[in-house]
Amino acid sequence: DPETKPVVSPKVHDPFDAAKPDEAADTLYGRTNVFVREALRELDYPERLQKMLLTPQREVHVELIITRDSGEIGAFNAYRVQHDNSRGPFKGGFRFHPDASMDDARSLASLMTWKTAVADVPFGGAKGGVRCDPSQLSEHELERITRKLVQALRHVMGPTQDIPGPEISAGSKVMSYWFDEYSKYKGFSPACVTGKPISLHGTYGREYATGRGVYLAVREFLRAEHAGKIVGKEIVLLGFGNVGSWCAEMLHYHGAKVIGVADRSGGIANQNGLDVPALRHHVKARPPFGGTLRTFPGGTPAAQEELLRLPCDVLIPASVSSIITAENAHELQCKYLAEAANSPTTPEADQILRERDIPVLPDIYASCGGVIVSFFEWVQNVQNLRWEEDEVNRSLDRKMTECFAEIWQIHKDQKLPLRTAAYVRALQSVTRAHIHRGFD
Ligand code: GLU
Repeated sequence: DPETKPVVSPKVHDPFDAAKPDEAADTLYGRTNVFVREALRELDYPERLQKMLLTPQREVHVELIITRDSGEIGAFNAYRVQHDNSRGPFKGGFRFHPDASMDDARSLASLMTWKTAVADVPFGGAKGGVRCDPSQLSEHELERITRKLVQALRHVMGPTQDIPGPEISAGSKVMSYWFDEYSKYKGFSPACVTGKPISLHGTYGREYATGRGVYLAVREFLRAEHAGKIVGKEIVLLGFGNVGSWCAEMLHYHGAKVIGVADRSGGIANQNGLDVPALRHHVKARPPFGGTLRTFPGGTPAAQEELLRLPCDVLIPASVSSIITAENAHELQCKYLAEAANSPTTPEADQILRERDIPVLPDIYASCGGVIVSFFEWVQNVQNLRWEEDEVNRSLDRKMTECFAEIWQIHKDQKLPLRTAAYVRALQSVTRAHIHRGFD
């Protein structure tokens, strides 16, 4: 069907190509590659290999046309970037966001390549986006957009090719529509997408996996730093969606004091520690009983900008990218930064934090709990069986602990910042796969 065929523009790895214009430092992709290049300097790889690591394999741009509830026609641009699949099928979600773009998808896709490699799960990296304002879409419109997305991309996606998972504004409902639509074309295929509800071949423990992973990352880091236990540590979170709210819940449960939480609508602070379960309940409830963070009765309203500067042990950005910038990095008063979001710190800000001796637990490690449990879900789907919740959680704990030990070793042995150490580990793993596969 020519209407639903994707416009595929395969990108050839050309070692003699000049630097890609996409790599200009003012693009999101260029910024991500600043970190990649920094690690590449430690590794001394041939130019051809470096090009492969720095260039996405395939990029697809489609336009999705739906009939809106009003009867009008709605047209939405959607992107899929498949960055690297040397270690396994491409993996990564679709972000439903007004800022979604090819550049954004490119940057996030490459982060997935490095994240799956750091986490040592046999997937590659991909990401997609649908440029839309999800707050302006009805449930039905979101469903139709997702079904159109499958129709447009099913030729290049599937359980052994490219597997989407949860992302911003794309939770278990969107994953269910994906599973349903894909299965219409290819037959029953639960492994074509992860993050599905438990009732539809999802796994226990996926919903809170990224948040729990951040908690485990912080726990391991504090242990290695001889910085004591999580109990009583003061935490500030920027972002209170799926990742941020579960992360707060996990840290609170393990005795940390969550003293501030903010999102775009504003924030709330309490020096004695917020009652996180009550806050989560409040935000989920509808007005007049609940709603925004600011209206929570158990704290003082505060703007995100104020909370960013609040003295604390661990500051955790858990929403969109580029929150910690050259403008505010001088003003952070945290002892450590743990990146629960993808790419929350710009390269300039990262440099400032290094100069200020504020250790950063990098996104490609700190936020990898989600894709680890996505892998567990995929494994259960291909085997048609189900793990107990306890088995999922124990396996995630083990993986986060093992990964951390490897990164910490490189950090200590080679005297590299944790981010560069994580990239070195990821690049080595992806490179090994490329070399074993051969180049021609
Ligand atoms: N969106 C999540 C991430 O950025 C995971 C997606 C997935 O599980 O495929 O890590």
